[in-house]
Amino acid sequence: MTKAALTHSSSAHSDVLIIGGGVLGCALGYYLSRDPALQITLLERQTLGSGTTSFAAGLLTKARPTPQVRALVSETFAAIARLNEEGIDIPFNQVGSLHIGCSDSARAQVSRTAELAQLQQDPVQWLQAEQVSQRCPWLQVPGDCAAALLPHDGFIDPYQLCMAYAQGARRQGVNLRQYSAVQRLLRDGQRITGVELEQGEQLLARWVIDAAGPWSTALAYEQDLFLAMAPVRSHYWITASSPLFPSQSPMVILPDALAYARPEVGGLLFGLRDQHPVYASPAQLPVDIRGFSFGEDDEGWEALAAGFSALQAFFPALQQLPMAHHVSNISSYTPDGLPLLGQVGDVEGFIAATGCSGAGVSLSGGIARLISADISGHSRWLDRQAFSPNRFGRVDPMCDEFQRRCALARANKRTG
Ligand SMILES: Cc1cc2nc3c(=O)[nH]c(=O)nc-3n(C[C@H](O)[C@H](O)[C@H](O)COP(=O)(O)OP(=O)(O)OC[C@H]3O[C@@H](n4cnc5c(N)ncnc54)[C@H](O)[C@@H]3O)c2cc1C
Repeated sequence: MTKAALTHSSSAHSDVLIIGGGVLGCALGYYLSRDPALQITLLERQTLGSGTTSFAAGLLTKARPTPQVRALVSETFAAIARLNEEGIDIPFNQVGSLHIGCSDSARAQVSRTAELAQLQQDPVQWLQAEQVSQRCPWLQVPGDCAAALLPHDGFIDPYQLCMAYAQGARRQGVNLRQYSAVQRLLRDGQRITGVELEQGEQLLARWVIDAAGPWSTALAYEQDLFLAMAPVRSHYWITASSPLFPSQSPMVILPDALAYARPEVGGLLFGLRDQHPVYASPAQLPVDIRGFSFGEDDEGWEALAAGFSALQAFFPALQQLPMAHHVSNISSYTPDGLPLLGQVGDVEGFIAATGCSGAGVSLSGGIARLISADISGHSRWLDRQAFSPNRFGRVDPMCDEFQRRCALARANKRTG
C-alpha cells in the first residue's frame, strides 16, 4: 500500500461498500448481511429505490434461455419467499404468464418457452383460443395460435421489493446511508481501496461494489474501468381502466407484436420493444431521472405508431381506449443482453453489479447471491463466465457506436 492510501486509513472502514440503493444494491446488502463477519455500508445518493428501479414493470418470468440466467431468476423467486417467511411482507401477484404465438417463428418461440419451463419442472398449460379470451377478455387470438400458460410466473412492485431487501439488510446490521453521493473511487495502483463522498468524507473497504445502475459507467470510467453497457430507453403505456382487464388475468407475452402486457390498477400495462434504437450517453445522465429525455419521441407516440397495427390485431380495443400514462426511463443494456458481474479488468477490490439489460428486478436475488458467495469466500455459486464484465474486451462505453450496439441488443431481445 502506498503512503497516500495509508493516510486514508484514518477514515471509516468497512469490509464492503455498496454504491447504489436500487433493487440490486439493496439485494446485495440483504444477501451479504447473512455473513455475520462482514461489516457492510450501502451508499445511496438520493433515497432508496429512487433510481431506475421505481420505473420497472416488475414482470418475473422463469423460462430463460440459459441455465445460468434461469438460476439467477429462480433465486429471486426464492428471495421473495424467504423475505415473506421472515415477516417482511412483499406481495407477489402470481397471475401466471401467457405466451401466444401465431406466426411460425412466434409459435416456435412459445414452444421453446414451454420446454424451458418444463426443464425446471415448472407446469405448463396449453390453452384453446376461447380459454385465452376467458382469462384475458381484451385479447383476440385466432383459433390456430399456440398459447402456453406458465402459472408460476407473476409480477411484483419493484419499489416494494427494493424496500423489502433494504429492510432485511437493515435488520441484519447493514448501514444504509441515504443522501450519501459517491464523488469518486479511491485507487491505489491495481486496487480500488474505497470511495470519496461529495462532502469529502473518505470511506475505505476491502470490496467496493458498483451497483449504481446507469450511473455505474461514469463512476468507473474516471478510474479507467470500462463497463460495457449503455443507457437505453425502456417504456410502457397504461390504459384507462376497463372491465376488459380483470386484476387476476395473466401477464401476456406476444412475440408476434413484440409486446408484453399485464393488468395494472384496473387498466392494462403494455410495453413494445423499440425497433428503432433510442439511447443516451452515460456521460449525460442527470442525478434526477424523473422525466428523463432521450432527445427524441419523449411521449412515445412514434414507437406506439410503429407497433400499433401488430398489437391491435390482438388487442382490438386499443383503438378506442385512452392512454392514462406513458412511463419511459433507462435500462442499462450490454451488447449481449446479459449483466456485468464481477471484477473489471485486473483491478482488484472493485466489483461490477450492473448492466441488467431490462431484467434487474428479476435477476436481483441471483445476482446478490452470486456476488455475496464470491465475497464471503464460503462457496462459489454458478458458472459466471457468461457474466464477466471483461467478455467484450476493452470497449469504450462513451463511444456512440458502442452505445448503439447496446440499444440494438434491446431491439433484438426476445425473452425476459
Ligand atoms: C420502463 C422500464 C421497465 C422495466 N421493466 C422491468 C421488468 O419488468 N423486469 C425487470 O426485471 N426489470 C425491468 N426493468 C429494468 C430494471 O428497472 C433495472 O434492471 C433495475 O431496476 C436496475 O436496478 P439497479 O439497482 O441496478 O439500478 P437503480 O435502481 O437505478 O439504482 C441505482 C442507484 O444508485 C444510485 N447512485 C447512482 N450514482 C450514485 C453515486 N455516485 N453515489 C451513490 N449512489 C448513487 C442512484 O441514485 C440509484 O438509486 C425496467 C426498466 C424500465 C426503465
